Amino acid sequence: MKKSLSSLLEVYHQYRNLKRQSRVFKVFRYAFYVLFAAYFLTIMFPQYLFAHEVSHKNFKVYARQPLDGNIDKVLDSAEARLAKSPIYDKSVVRKVFLTDSHAFYAFLSNKAFGSFANSIPGIDNILVNKSDAANDLVFINRAEYNKRSLSGVIAHEVTHLFIKKKFGWARVVGTIPTWKKEGYCEYVAGDGTLTYEEGIKYLKENPDKPSYFKYYLMVKYLIEKESLSIEDLFNRDFDEKNLEAKVLANL
Ligand SMILES: [Zn+2]
Repeated sequence: MKKSLSSLLEVYHQYRNLKRQSRVFKVFRYAFYVLFAAYFLTIMFPQYLFAHEVSHKNFKVYARQPLDGNIDKVLDSAEARLAKSPIYDKSVVRKVFLTDSHAFYAFLSNKAFGSFANSIPGIDNILVNKSDAANDLVFINRAEYNKRSLSGVIAHEVTHLFIKKKFGWARVVGTIPTWKKEGYCEYVAGDGTLTYEEGIKYLKENPDKPSYFKYYLMVKYLIEKESLSIEDLFNRDFDEKNLEAKVLANL
C-alpha cells in the first residue's frame, strides 16, 4: 500500500514537471511567434526605421541619415538609364530604402545580405546596401570589387520591377532564366562592379563561371548584334552554352 502510494506520488510529480515544462515551452513558442511577426512586418514596412524621406519625380527615397543633395542627380541618372528601355513603365512604384550600414542591410535583407541591393517580393521595396549618395556609390561588405554606382544599382533593381510588370510574376519566378533577368538589368544599368576591360579579362580567365558580366554580354549580344526585341529576348528559348560560345568568340 505504502509502495503504491509513493509511485502514485512520483507519477504526480512527473506530471507536474511536464506541465511546467510545457508551460515554459508555450511561453517560448509564443515569444518566438511574436518576434517572427514583428520581424516580418519590419521587412514589409520598414518605413518606421527610416527617419528621412525625399520624393523626386517617380522615386520615393527613405534614409536613416539626412540625404545628401546629390540624391536628385543620382535619381535623374537612374531615370535616364531606365527611360532607354522599351519596357519603361512610369506607373511602377519606386520605393528605395538606403540603409546606412552592411549590418542593417543584412538585417532587412536576410538571404540577400551579400548583394548591393534587392527588392522585397510582394511589396517591391528596393533595399540598398550602405551607400554614399554624394559620390553616387554603393558598397558591399567584401575586400575587393566592393563598390559600384548607386544610380546603376537603382536602375538595375527598378528594371527587375519592369520585367515583372511586363512578363508577370509567375514567369519571372518560374521560367525566365537568371542570365536573361540579371543580364537585362545590367544592360539597362550600363555599369557594374567591374569596368568593361576588367570584365573581359575576368571572362577570358573564367569562361565557365557564372557572372553578371557574362549575362550582361549575352543580353547585349542578342539586342545589339542579333537585333532582338525585348519580347524576343524574354519569350524565345536559347541554347545558353551556344550563346556563351558566340559571345566569347566575339570578344
Ligand atoms: Zn538583379
